[in-house]
Amino acid sequence: MEITLAKHYGFCQGVKYALELANKVACENNQPIFMLNKIVHNQAVVDELTKKNIITLDDSRSLEEKINSIEKGTIIFSAHGHDKKLEALALQRNLQIVDATCPKVIANEKSINTALKNNKTVLYIGIRNHPETLASLSISEKVIFIDFFNPDYSLLKSDYDVSIHNQTTLIQEDLKRIYEEIKPKVHSMEIKNDICYATSLRQQSLNEITDEEVIFIIGDKISSNSTRLYEVAKKTYPHLDIYQISSLNDLKNIDLSQYKKGFVTAGASTPNSVINPILEKLKSN
Ligand code: SF4
Repeated sequence: MEITLAKHYGFCQGVKYALELANKVACENNQPIFMLNKIVHNQAVVDELTKKNIITLDDSRSLEEKINSIEKGTIIFSAHGHDKKLEALALQRNLQIVDATCPKVIANEKSINTALKNNKTVLYIGIRNHPETLASLSISEKVIFIDFFNPDYSLLKSDYDVSIHNQTTLIQEDLKRIYEEIKPKVHSMEIKNDICYATSLRQQSLNEITDEEVIFIIGDKISSNSTRLYEVAKKTYPHLDIYQISSLNDLKNIDLSQYKKGFVTAGASTPNSVINPILEKLKSN
């Protein structure tokens, strides 16, 4: 198959930063190292860290329960951000902490704090229960959550001066529709538009598609930016076959012989170790 690779695909700066930090901690540390959730939403990346003795406590316990279960060692907080109360709890238990939060997420959190100080009513548009959403909502009980997939505007009031913030890995066009819904319901609104550059570039790269018959989006289903990439592709190219795949294995379920030209891209949390074997397989088909 003739393959066109997106201009912008795969690891973003935030993910690279988080992994460099985690690898450094793994090299320098003799004590146990833990993560309270996946460092980024990609299982291959998590498995690599496990090989380096970084234990990901990716189970259903609350984050507090996980911290309380750790006797000694270091906690690495993931790229998505976290409730700062968790840092305090970890320090109380004499654990070391390393913060791998993406600088863009930190900037967004600062911007929420500034809006709160300026007495704005802060609205946060995000995906329910996503770690980045949970971290942003933990900044203050005053922050009003707007579910990206199922927005409920019932808490808005006509005298509110709102400041609208959002998760970094959403879709621009869908956000705009939510802004339009909010506008007539409040007194004034400022829009921060916090989709990160990496997410925007990867979504824009889908415009590079010309005469390809099939699109492959490489990235785990739990990865917000990979799944949004898939959704944008589905919406933009309804006539094409589009697959979101997380590993080489997923190609086994696809009849590749029917395609001559394909387009490949990958979410910001997908490593080259997953992307390259898929590219090779597609090209050799
Ligand atoms: Fe940071 Fe965006 Fe990458 Fe998330 S996708 S880690 S916000 S640069």
